[in-house]
Amino acid sequence: PAPLLDVRDLHVEFRTRDGVARAVNGVDYSVAAGETLAVLGESGSGKSVTAQAIMGILEAPPGRVTRGEILFQGRDLLKLTEEERRKVRGAGLAMIFQDALSALNPVLSVGDQLGEMFVVHRGMSRKDARARAVELMDRVRIPAARERAGQYPHQFSGGMRQRIMIAMAMALEPALIIADEPTTALDVTVQAQVMDLLAELKGELDMGLILITHDLGVVADVADTIAVMYAGRIVEKAPVHELYRAPAHPYTRGLLASIPRLDHKGRDLYAIKGLPPSLLRVPPGCAFHPRCPMARDVCRTEVPPLARVTYEGFAGERRSACHFWKECLRG
Ligand code: SF4
Ligand code: MG
Repeated sequence: PAPLLDVRDLHVEFRTRDGVARAVNGVDYSVAAGETLAVLGESGSGKSVTAQAIMGILEAPPGRVTRGEILFQGRDLLKLTEEERRKVRGAGLAMIFQDALSALNPVLSVGDQLGEMFVVHRGMSRKDARARAVELMDRVRIPAARERAGQYPHQFSGGMRQRIMIAMAMALEPALIIADEPTTALDVTVQAQVMDLLAELKGELDMGLILITHDLGVVADVADTIAVMYAGRIVEKAPVHELYRAPAHPYTRGLLASIPRLDHKGRDLYAIKGLPPSLLRVPPGCAFHPRCPMARDVCRTEVPPLARVTYEGFAGERRSACHFWKECLRG
């Protein structure tokens, strides 16, 4: 079956005073109904910009899609008018942001904000919309939903506000939700609860979910597939358990090594040194080479293709953009 979302060869540039920043440089990924794709990367890797391009909300300084396709339910979103894209955003695609407090309207009660979705997009009466809002609050397990529907965003805790964001995103039962660092601002226990809720609702509604994060630890239990981004490109893509078992890219290996583990005492043997590059000056060849403990001469001149990774006992789809993925896989 055709995927719900199919991003092909996406390029996004930002024009800055200091030159052109290639924020997204040939990204391909797809998501099926019921699938969770985690997009992992450090800040500046292009993971959020890719999501903004899908949503049609690229941020200033003016970002521009310069190449590629974003096929959603078979239609290229890049070819739609602004009006058509708004409709898709209303009913087909929804986004959850990290900072619920700034994404929610501070002067509207939570019940009115949720209800507004049904008034605007479903033409419901205020009364019916309010009842649906309370139902939604129940569904995301906000205690005493009926009483709390009259309260304002600042009267809720961070975790409860993130539940409200999830309720907003789910209100119209979109086919796909993109969640950009949805739990980063929360403490660890609340993170797990919010993530579980998201995974559960996704399952019930058979939605596709894109989970953007810098934290590999957060997505382990909920993702089906992981795409790792570095300097505007996908460097590794794999089913989550295969990626954890044996990373096929030195960058992923470094990320995995930096997760604290109960079974792993002592210091990291393989932490990533240095910082990701400026998108104005991406290193030639493999962009990761200045930080890579496995780098050789060819890495400084030749961009590694996102090659198919195959090995005994695995017949699925897996890729790595490392010239030496075989060695990396062997550990
Ligand atoms: Fe490291 Fe070379 Fe692989 Fe890049 S291509 S990740 S520099 S070994
Ligand atoms: Mg971001």
